[in-house]
Amino acid sequence: MKGKTITRKVYKVLREDYPLVDWKTVMYQNIARPRAVFIFWLACHSRLATKDRLLKIGLTVNLQCCFCTQEETINHLFFGCTELKHIWQKVLRWLQVDHVPMEWSAELRWITKHSKGKGWKAQLVKSAAAETIYALWKYRNDVCFGNKVYNTNIDEDIINTIVYRGWRNAKLREHVAHLLI
Ligand SMILES: [Zn+2]
Repeated sequence: MKGKTITRKVYKVLREDYPLVDWKTVMYQNIARPRAVFIFWLACHSRLATKDRLLKIGLTVNLQCCFCTQEETINHLFFGCTELKHIWQKVLRWLQVDHVPMEWSAELRWITKHSKGKGWKAQLVKSAAAETIYALWKYRNDVCFGNKVYNTNIDEDIINTIVYRGWRNAKLREHVAHLLI
């Protein structure tokens, strides 16, 4: 493929910027780390470089998910893939939220719905969602690129980050403390 054709294709894919949600709701007062919020924002805009997107811009890639035999799309990764789905489910369970994760487009609508308002639960749900997407994307990259994965207790890491960030927020501290009991 000639350079110009690739550039045009890349441009076309990059322009496919259809936010799945009103992203302001999920970004507003999100206490997750900035890097996690950024990756979450990319996911909300379907802009993560998943294998199906790389194929669309003309790159030769093996479409198979790094964790199972299915094709890697954003809907599959978050949270069609059982390997990653159970991690988000564990985080939700810690938040005392009774919900079974769905595929990304549906899950993002669920996250948005439960991120509305100024309540502590809404704030923790959207922050946990951002930290989870960040952690899972990093985990996926490590496995895909053959990096050594030193820690597989990903759900514990996500929860620890939320506890740490929530503790520094005077309005959230009490609620985080209750979740720890
Ligand atoms: Zn998979």
